[in-house]
Amino acid sequence: MSSKDRREFLKSAAAITAAAVTTGIVASEAHAQNAGGYASKNFKAEDTIKKGEWRSSGADGTGIPLTELKRPLNILVFGAHPDDAELKAGGVAAKWAAKGHKVKLVSVTNGDMGYWKNTGIPLAARRKREQARASEILGTKCEVLDIGDGTLEPTLENRLKLIRLIREWKADIVMGHRPTDYQADHRYTGVLMQDTAFLCAVPGILPEIPVVPNPVYLYLYDYFQRPYPFNPDIAVSIDSVVEKKTNAVDVMDSQFYEGGCMSSDATLPKTPEDAKKRRAEIRRLLAGRNEQCADRFRAALIKWYGKEKGEKIKNAEAFEICEYGRKVTEAEIRFLFPFD
Ligand SMILES: [Zn+2]
Repeated sequence: MSSKDRREFLKSAAAITAAAVTTGIVASEAHAQNAGGYASKNFKAEDTIKKGEWRSSGADGTGIPLTELKRPLNILVFGAHPDDAELKAGGVAAKWAAKGHKVKLVSVTNGDMGYWKNTGIPLAARRKREQARASEILGTKCEVLDIGDGTLEPTLENRLKLIRLIREWKADIVMGHRPTDYQADHRYTGVLMQDTAFLCAVPGILPEIPVVPNPVYLYLYDYFQRPYPFNPDIAVSIDSVVEKKTNAVDVMDSQFYEGGCMSSDATLPKTPEDAKKRRAEIRRLLAGRNEQCADRFRAALIKWYGKEKGEKIKNAEAFEICEYGRKVTEAEIRFLFPFD
């Protein structure tokens, strides 16, 4: 590069950086506005971290500076089907929501193949209603994208759909499956989520929607070992909301009480007594998932809650930091997860 070319290059790079900083400020100020029609609660001075106390927002630590981070926080969770976000993050979502933070649970597919008895449009409509009831219980918002169950692909069109949702929600935190999760829709949800990182802060992409600074990206826990096991960077006790979470997931009858996609008529209880027994069994199974998470990731619970408290936690959810999102320090994680 000649010295003249280099000067021109640096000049345009400086202009891009200045524009990005300005956009960051706009995004930050806009943050205070309601996301998704939530009523705002009273948040105090300690709910804002000012510039200088907060690191830059780029995945490599050098990107767009975030001028401040404010509570209430906006959190967006992508699950592959209507129940995945609730199963993996319903507890922490209820905790955030109870403190006035704004959580939206998005199902990236419509779940229209997820029931043994019927499929297609009637099932998609039923699952949408089930997810809405669950969200009412958790205190969250929800949305189902109109993408067929079992057909999700990591296309540019789908990537832009997710970028749009992240920007419209002004998300501080984005969560989703790991791209190595057990089923194609789950894996591609993970790929799509990852592919929105950084790009949701680029003004030239979807220029009609204001950008957001690169959010913190977190993976939902799973137990798969290849190519590497889930690393629980963050673990949250959900003991105080486990009943609420179980109630929320339990309303999704098509998936649990009635058996989901690979069951049969034999699953359905025949007498009121059987029905009661079946309901209790399902609730126990659902509770068991949270207990298994606490046991598997006990060391992370002890890290965040201390030995005495961490050892006693019965129900948990865990999250792994995706390195393509904004980098966060331990203090910043505590700001984002403001729970006892
Ligand atoms: Zn699923």
